[in-house]
Amino acid sequence: MKLIFDAHLDLAMNALEWNRDLTQPVAELRRRERDLQDKKDRGCGTVSFPEMRRGGVGLCVATQIARVEHDAFSPIRGWFSQAQAWAMTQGQLAWYRAMEAAGEMVQIRDRAGLERHLERWKSSSSSSSSSSSLKQAQGRVDEDYEEEEEEEQKPPIGYILSLEGADSLFTPEQLERSFGDGLRAIGPAHYGPGVYANGTDASGGFNAHGRELLEEIERLGLILDVTHLCDECFWEALDLFSGPMWASHQNCRVLVPHVRQFTDEQLRALIARGAVIAAALDAWMLVPGWVRGKTTPQSSGVTLQHVVEHIDHVCQLAGNARHAGIGSDLDGCFGTEQTPQDLDTIADLQKLDALLSARGYSADDIERIRWRNFVGFLCRAWESNDGYGWMRAEP
Ligand SMILES: [Zn+2]
Repeated sequence: MKLIFDAHLDLAMNALEWNRDLTQPVAELRRRERDLQDKKDRGCGTVSFPEMRRGGVGLCVATQIARVEHDAFSPIRGWFSQAQAWAMTQGQLAWYRAMEAAGEMVQIRDRAGLERHLERWKSSSSSSSSSSSLKQAQGRVDEDYEEEEEEEQKPPIGYILSLEGADSLFTPEQLERSFGDGLRAIGPAHYGPGVYANGTDASGGFNAHGRELLEEIERLGLILDVTHLCDECFWEALDLFSGPMWASHQNCRVLVPHVRQFTDEQLRALIARGAVIAAALDAWMLVPGWVRGKTTPQSSGVTLQHVVEHIDHVCQLAGNARHAGIGSDLDGCFGTEQTPQDLDTIADLQKLDALLSARGYSADDIERIRWRNFVGFLCRAWESNDGYGWMRAEP
């Protein structure tokens, strides 16, 4: 199955804060932004549902994201109160619900839902490929037939809801309400100091509220996303939290020296905990020396090959291909002005196949990196409620 699991997409943020109607083709979204200059990535978007389907990105982790202040640290504007941040995340949830109602998305909350979705995606991708080869065999384009095929090719995109940065939660208890809404993963911090924890470019451990939050995350059985935790918080989290953890959009510090990336020691610790570490496509995290707004994909020479280097580094540390994945973060406050130059839209994630293959990865390994590592992780995390199911070895 030509499926890609993308472990990090800020879809609702794009819909509400960038005013992008993701049901439209990327070309149309770019056209609509031709005259806009309010954000530096206007007209450079790479993600929409038609492009995700074209690229086989049928399953993703989609975020709610809203932070408070500290704009000095973050490419995302902060709200002046937690109440405002909470309201934004609730608006984002409302958009996901609207996309579910429209048949564009389906929320995955448990193992049964995950299996159902994979079955559906598998049958739709196999029927569409057989019908397009039939069409080729017929050597003609039949209008009715094409419409039918279009319908067939439009299975909803599965998403697992994640909260990037916990600032919007008034209290750790409020997490339970979000869990009821389908929230299944959470990253306590984003850029800079947060309400509960310190994120990228900040320092220091979890405060008392943050420690309570970790307990609540574990009690509810949510996945802890360690991405964006500063080094002190990262190591504290590993001590304090014993549930499942992943790094949803995370590259390697040894390749791109900056605290946003994890050291080999951190990556090894995650691998030992059964985590999946997903490579991100934000260019400044792929090649060293990127200067925002100055360096360009062309001047830096950044390509998808650099993504493969980060994936490969994780695999080398693990000694296998069981802990690497893709968490593109595409359109996470940047577009083609800050992505690999051989990527036009998210559909180009498919190009990673050939690059991994050339790097010596087997078809089985590539499939693991594309989606099976994350699906296996989720199956283990959701296998039982005893809190240890996720640790059992993969069958
Ligand atoms: Zn992020």
